[in-house]
Amino acid sequence: MKVLSVASEIQPLVKTGGLADVAGALPAALGPLGVEMRTLVPGYPAVLAAAKGGRKARAYADLFGGGAAVVEAQAAGLSLLVLDAPHLFDRPGGLYGNGADWPDNWRRFAALARAAADIAADGAPAWRPDVLHAHDWQAALAPAYLRYGAAPRFPSVVTIHNLAFQGHFPASIFPELGLPPQAMSVDGVEYYGGVGFLKAGLQAAGAITTVSPTYAREIRTPAFGMGLDGLLNLRGESVVGILNGIDTEAWNPAADPYLAAAFSARTLGARARNRRTVEERFGLEPGGEPIACVISRLTWQKGMDVLAGEFDRLLGAGLRLAILGSGDRALEGALLAGAARHRGRAGIVVGYDEELAHLMQGGCDAILLPSRFEPCGLTQLYALRYGCVPVVARTGGLADTVIDANEAAVSAGAATGLMFTPGNGDALADACGRMVELHGDRRAWAAMQRQGMRADVSWGRSAARYADLYRSLVSKG
Ligand code: ADP
Repeated sequence: MKVLSVASEIQPLVKTGGLADVAGALPAALGPLGVEMRTLVPGYPAVLAAAKGGRKARAYADLFGGGAAVVEAQAAGLSLLVLDAPHLFDRPGGLYGNGADWPDNWRRFAALARAAADIAADGAPAWRPDVLHAHDWQAALAPAYLRYGAAPRFPSVVTIHNLAFQGHFPASIFPELGLPPQAMSVDGVEYYGGVGFLKAGLQAAGAITTVSPTYAREIRTPAFGMGLDGLLNLRGESVVGILNGIDTEAWNPAADPYLAAAFSARTLGARARNRRTVEERFGLEPGGEPIACVISRLTWQKGMDVLAGEFDRLLGAGLRLAILGSGDRALEGALLAGAARHRGRAGIVVGYDEELAHLMQGGCDAILLPSRFEPCGLTQLYALRYGCVPVVARTGGLADTVIDANEAAVSAGAATGLMFTPGNGDALADACGRMVELHGDRRAWAAMQRQGMRADVSWGRSAARYADLYRSLVSKG
């Protein structure tokens, strides 16, 4: 089984969030199941540098305004197909913009989708996929190009990593997409009078997946559907939730080069050295109060406004805070101000730092995820594996992966974290209060850490579900 995965970011080469982790980890998880996955990615500068010496597999004299090529390359253990299109991707700055979105994002990701559909229809050319797997809006036009082009029945899957990002553009771009006029219709790419990339993919794909069972249910309701709940309900039987796993080699507390001290469930005491390093990095005075961390985009979705609003109350409840993140400028400011008010007990690093993220998971006592919605969430999975107790809002993948420390779960030894109602400051403060109390009971706390470390957060089961899905699409095709 050969699968062409199409993603706008991939770990360890280019990453802004969880999509990169998933795109980077899936191929290795699928290999042992007889699925050979290659990933088509944009030729950003970091990707081109890693993919030097690749072989040209396709060439375009003009792909959305310039010459382009698809280059086959191996990089960082991944089999890549790199869309080398300098006019679209070879520029300094962020993957999707610099502050504001790049104005030509529709052209950049239509080109990615076009190349994906061409590879699906005619091969690379020595490598011919059986299934196309498109991730998020940036790849979602690919099934639409297939549907209205050379291979209308080609098996395809679209995975929604976050329904909040849909790739919605004005109708004026339609003539440049190279789709036939009939595609500009309600059951095609048209969306509220414009063009919707994700919507087009959801309409055209053979199957739709999202990254947790709870989010798969939530997005079919108006509260979480972001305008697409109607369509997702129409396609109801094709929408499934497959929980993300994590790369258990890159995230292994027993052999993590970014920790001050490696540890396992049997040597939890060694976490103390990581904790001291966290205290130093965040300017926290040494002490016995639990350190709760945040490793996150600082946005409304992640509930960072709720956290900022409760800052003083949480610090008053007997915990310390270490925050790593960047995002919304106003939220950065509010959290910086909170940390300044509680110097020595709260610290914040504004920015993106993969190594520090590992250290925090291995040294902090708990991680806070007050998300308003969370398709899957990966940081709570890393936390479980690192004995860092997740304190999470009851939504999406958070609800599917954490077992709340209610009385019954604690006495049964099943609890792995704490859960509270999303978008609610009182609920967040309550959960943090419960966390501080539980932390005071050394034995109960260590039992919860160990129970979390026993949870299966690997790709094992979920990779098998993707493999089954690919096979069922091919047999239907
Ligand atoms: P999302 O994709 O919505 O941002 P996820 O939880 O699915 O959220 O994935 C976030 C990923 O990005 C995780 O791997 C997390 O460790 C990482 N991450 C987020 N913010 C930072 C940061 N400031 N520094 C380092 N890693 C971060």
